[in-house]
Amino acid sequence: MNFEENIQYVKGIGPKKAQALNKLGIENKYNLLTYYPKRYNNQSDITPISEIEYDETVNVKGYIISIQEKISYKGMKIITVLLSDDTGTLQIIWFNQPFLARSLKKGMNLFVKGKISYAYGGSGQFCIKQIISYFLLDDEQNEQCEFLPIYILPGTIKPKFYRSILTDTLSDLHNIPCALAESIRNEYKLLTKADALRKIHFPKSEEDIEASRKMLIFEELFMIQCGLIHLRKIHTQNKHGIHCLLNSTLVKKLYSALPFKLTADQEKVWSEICNDMQSSTPMQRLLQGDVGSGKTVIAVLALVKAVENGWQSALMVPTEILARQHFRNFCLLLDPLGIKTGLLLGSLSAKEHRDALQQIKTGKWQIIIGTHALIQDKVEFANLGLVITDEQHRFGVAQRAYLEAKAVHIPDVLVMTATPIPRTMTLTVYGDLNVSMIRHLPPGRKNIRTFLRTKSAREKIYQFVLKEIKEGRQAYVVCPLIEISENIKTVSAEEMFEKLNTGIFKNINCALLHGKLSAIEKEQIMQDFFANKIHLLVSTTVIEVGVNVPNASIMVVEGADRFGLAQLHQLRGRIGRGQYKSYCILLSDSKSSKTVERLSLMEKINDGFVLAEEDLRLRGPGQFFGAMQHGLPDLKIANVLSDVNILLDARKAAEKWCANKNPMTEIIRTINIQYKNDFLKITDI
Ligand code: ADP
Ligand code: MG
Repeated sequence: MNFEENIQYVKGIGPKKAQALNKLGIENKYNLLTYYPKRYNNQSDITPISEIEYDETVNVKGYIISIQEKISYKGMKIITVLLSDDTGTLQIIWFNQPFLARSLKKGMNLFVKGKISYAYGGSGQFCIKQIISYFLLDDEQNEQCEFLPIYILPGTIKPKFYRSILTDTLSDLHNIPCALAESIRNEYKLLTKADALRKIHFPKSEEDIEASRKMLIFEELFMIQCGLIHLRKIHTQNKHGIHCLLNSTLVKKLYSALPFKLTADQEKVWSEICNDMQSSTPMQRLLQGDVGSGKTVIAVLALVKAVENGWQSALMVPTEILARQHFRNFCLLLDPLGIKTGLLLGSLSAKEHRDALQQIKTGKWQIIIGTHALIQDKVEFANLGLVITDEQHRFGVAQRAYLEAKAVHIPDVLVMTATPIPRTMTLTVYGDLNVSMIRHLPPGRKNIRTFLRTKSAREKIYQFVLKEIKEGRQAYVVCPLIEISENIKTVSAEEMFEKLNTGIFKNINCALLHGKLSAIEKEQIMQDFFANKIHLLVSTTVIEVGVNVPNASIMVVEGADRFGLAQLHQLRGRIGRGQYKSYCILLSDSKSSKTVERLSLMEKINDGFVLAEEDLRLRGPGQFFGAMQHGLPDLKIANVLSDVNILLDARKAAEKWCANKNPMTEIIRTINIQYKNDFLKITDI
C-alpha cells in the first residue's frame, strides 16, 4: 500500500472532504493513520435499564422507541426520547437543541452517559436530564466496539464515515513504515506498528490502549532523539573538544576586580564550569537561576577563561537592549584587562557590520556579544571555543546549533535560563545537559511586593509612583501593545505615554520605549534611564529580559491578564535589583475568576521556579515552552512532561542505534513521512 497517496483519491473522499481533512493536517493515508483518537467513550460499563437507581450516574445503551418535541411555556425546546434496551425503558431529555431532532430517528441505537432523575409528571419513572455524553451507534459499533474512538472532526466529516475510511486503511498495513527495528521492539516489549495502529484506533480493552500508546510514543520520541543525535553528529564530525588550563592571570585579575564577592552558589557553579572547561570533553551545561540571581557574572568569568586560553568566546542574547547593556557592563570590567569585546547586532549600519565581521574573522575581537545576528551565514569566527546563550528559553534548538557549528572545534557550551526547564524537556530539546543551579539571590535583596489591582485604583497608584520618584527612585510602566489597536481592548504604550507625560507626570522626565524605535533611539533611552536622567519609562515588553537598572523600584503592569506568569515574573525581575524596597502593581479588569486566581499567585509567590511550575500547569507545555520547542516537530502522541520513562528508554535505544553503523534509511523514511518539513528543521541545518 502506498501510504503517501493523496487522501483525495481514497475511495469515498472527494475534493471537498479532502479539503476538510487537509485542515486537520491529513493529506495522505499515513496522516490519517497517525491522527489519533482524542479519547474513547468506554461503553463497557453499561447498566441495564431495569437496574438503574435514582441519582446514579450511568452508561445506558438502547434503541429509540419514540421521539417527542415540545416547547415549554418559557419557549424552550424540549426533545424527549424513549429508549429501550429490552430490560426496560428510560426517558432521555434534551433542552434547547433544535437540530438534534433531525438526526434522531426511531430504531437508532443510542449510547448515553448521564445522571438519573425522576421524569416530569410524578409518575416515578426514571429519566436522564443531565446528559454527560451521548452518541449514536452504527450497527457495527453497537455490536463490536466497546471503546468507541472519538476524533476531532469538522462537521462535514461524519464520524461513522471517518471510521469506515480508517477501517479500510487499517486493513492493509503490511509495509507500513516504522522507525523501530525488530530488535528494539523486542528489547522494550513493544507491539508492531501495524498492531499498535489497529489498537489505538479500535481497542478492545484498556490494555490495548496502553500497549499501543506505548509503542507509538516510543517511536515518536525515538525518532526525535535520532534526529537530534544525527544533528549533533553532523556538527561534531571530525572535530575535537577544546580544553582550558587552570585559572591564571586574566581570570584572577577579573575575579578580584569584581565589585562584589560571589555568593556560595555562584562559587559552586563557577567551579563546576571550570572543571568542565578544563576537561577535554566538551562542556554541555545548563545554568538555571531565578531572575536577578547573578548569572551574568558567571558568564563573564567563563568568557574570559576561554580568552585566557586563546579562544574566542561568544554570548548570544535575545534582545538588542540586553546585548548593549551587557556590552557596556562588560567593557567596564574587560577593557582594563586589555580584552577586546565587540558587539554584533542586526541594526548595525552596513559599514559597522562589515567591520564587525572583519574583527570577528581575524580574531581581533576576543569576546563577541550579539543577538540572532551571530548565527547568520556571513559570520565567521577565527577560533570560537565557548558559546553562551543567555535567556535560553527564547531561542530554538536550531539557533543554538547554528552558532555552535561555527566553531572549528567542538565548542564548550553554556546555556543560561531563569525559566526552569524540566529535565524531560532538556532531554528532548538539547539531549543531555549537566545542570548547575543558583538557588539563592545575592545578599541584601528585598522581596518585591506585588499587588493585583483593578484600573479604578490607578490614580492612587500614580500618586504613590510620583512620591517614590520624588524620593529618587525610577519606575517602569509596562503596556502589552505599542499602538492603539481597534480589536484588542487594552492600553497601548503610546497612548499611555501621552496620557502620563502630559498629565500627572508632566513635571517628571518620562520616555517611551518600544521595539519599533531605531536601535540608536532605544540605546539612548536605556542609557538615560540607567543614568537616572529618565525617571519614568513607559515601555512594551522589550524590557522583559535581562535589563538591569538597580535604582528602578516600581513597576506598573497594564493589562496584566495578557501575560503568562513566567513572563510577569521576568518583567517583575526588572525591579528589586538594588537596595530599595520594590513594588510591582499588576492592573487587570478581568472578570474571569480563573484569571484573577492566576494573577493573584503573583502576590503570594516570589520564587520563579514555583511560579513557572504553576504556569506550566495552568497553560500546558505548548504555550509555556513556545520558542524553546521551536524547530521541533509538534508531537502527535507523546507528552514530554508525562511520558518521562518512555522518553528515557527511547533515548537509550536511539543512542545505541545511532552508535551502530546501521543504516538510518527506514528511520529517515518514517521521519519524513510523519513530519515532512517539520523535521528537516532539525536534521538538515
Ligand atoms: P540574572 O541572573 O537575572 O542575569 P544578573 O546577573 O543581571 O542577574 O544580576 C543581577 C544583579 O545582581 C546585578 O546588578 C549584579 O551586579 C548583582 N549581583 C550579581 N552577583 C552578585 C553578588 N554576588 N553580590 C552582589 N550583587 C550581585
Ligand atoms: Mg540575565
